[in-house]
Amino acid sequence: MFIKTSHHTSRAAVRHLLTAALAFLLPSTLAEAGSITIDAPGMSALFSQSSFGATPVSIRFNPSRLIVAPELLVIKDQADLQALLDLAPDPAPTVDAFFVDQLDTCGFPEPALNGIVFGCAQLPGHVFVEESEAAALSPATLMGHELGHNLNLPHDLFSSLNLMSPFFPHGTELTEEQVATILQSPLVQTDATGQRFIQITPIAIVAAPEPPTLLLLLGAAALGALLLRHTNQSGAGPI
Ligand SMILES: [Zn+2]
Repeated sequence: MFIKTSHHTSRAAVRHLLTAALAFLLPSTLAEAGSITIDAPGMSALFSQSSFGATPVSIRFNPSRLIVAPELLVIKDQADLQALLDLAPDPAPTVDAFFVDQLDTCGFPEPALNGIVFGCAQLPGHVFVEESEAAALSPATLMGHELGHNLNLPHDLFSSLNLMSPFFPHGTELTEEQVATILQSPLVQTDATGQRFIQITPIAIVAAPEPPTLLLLLGAAALGALLLRHTNQSGAGPI
């Protein structure tokens, strides 16, 4: 061990060291970042509702990914949106679902509050984006709605109960006509048992690489614990 504490080490000194370490680390730990919210049972329920009849579609999620792109935490314009699409890690038929801090624009009208758009999707395509706070408020219907656009569904302007209603939070219903469109999408795959499924990779856009920061933080905590234990065991310090 390379850390040697003297008999004069005090708890106050250790606390000071820890405070300094945390003050150094916290700014990057608390940096803004997109956060992923998934309601897997809710998503599968949407895509296996009665209008799907004998051909329900299960929604399967790949492990979540982080992509460091501080300049894309806020999607300000079409250029940002295109830059985000260019980062999509998986080719179709896998769907790439991005979560960002803020979405100021979309290629076509999507529900918005005070200029902040809740979600945006290629119509059709295999990439969509969610604003993280809206995703947390209504995880299944927001993701289901944006996925619906990827599956070539336009807005349903006539029923607020429909998943493709442009109002937020979106409804849950899909008509048989919409299901017929979904089942024609190349995003709908069929596994060896004949079960139809759609594969989604959730991706959080973050400002800084989190794992190294977390490791540093854990390292600081471990160091603090070691110092405290050593101080207590020495018994000579002014504790
Ligand atoms: Zn929409």
